Amino acid sequence: MNKIIVAIDGYSSCGKSTIAKALARYAGYTYVDTGAMYRAVGLYTLRHTLISKEDIISALPGIRIGFIWSDGAQHVTLNGEDVEAQIRTLEAGNCASRISQIKEVRAFLVAQQQAMGEAKGIVMDGRDIGTVVFPRAELKLFLTARPEVRAKRRFDELIEKGEKPVYEDVLADVNDRDYRDTHRAESPLRQADDAIVVDNSDLTPDQQMEIIIGLFDEKINGKQ
Ligand code: C5P
Repeated sequence: MNKIIVAIDGYSSCGKSTIAKALARYAGYTYVDTGAMYRAVGLYTLRHTLISKEDIISALPGIRIGFIWSDGAQHVTLNGEDVEAQIRTLEAGNCASRISQIKEVRAFLVAQQQAMGEAKGIVMDGRDIGTVVFPRAELKLFLTARPEVRAKRRFDELIEKGEKPVYEDVLADVNDRDYRDTHRAESPLRQADDAIVVDNSDLTPDQQMEIIIGLFDEKINGKQ
């Protein structure tokens, strides 16, 4: 059976990684969370207090990002260290959003992402997958949900991790990040012309999965 590339883009906290992982499992494909790669670079710059763009760019050759399988889940590594937990904080997320505006950081990560997709059979999620990383991906999905719905989901996740978030702060953070992601000069988040939009504000995870599997099967069957 022909393997394809599935590109999933969309706003932060709209469930891209959950659906991407589930689709990868269904299809027997590799899942790549590109947000985790930007977060790992963000974490590196936080740990080394790199503030200026020049310092961040010169540090790139010393940053090695990988993925490992641990406790039944995919974890991101930074220079060999499992940093899955450390990259999921609000601070690391904000830092990722800032460093992702630097052209050289994007080129550094996009090249690695394109190499991962060479053999196809991949589900990759992010902000620029269908527009920049794989503009010729066979299936492009653009996920969206209302900001309040996304803030509530993020709030619940943070509580589950033992953090003590304030809902209004999380909502403000979601809005700030949306603004930065859609207004940056380098590869702003935008829907590819040929992407299919899925608004999951009022969908259960099962309903959303059914829609997405339907789109995937249609694409695969159409290819044979
Ligand atoms: O998806 P996630 O929230 O983990 O991504 C963290 C940040 O990394 C995002 O706010 C976004 O600014 C950036 N990012 C990006 N391009 C991608 C994936 C993530 O700019 N392909």
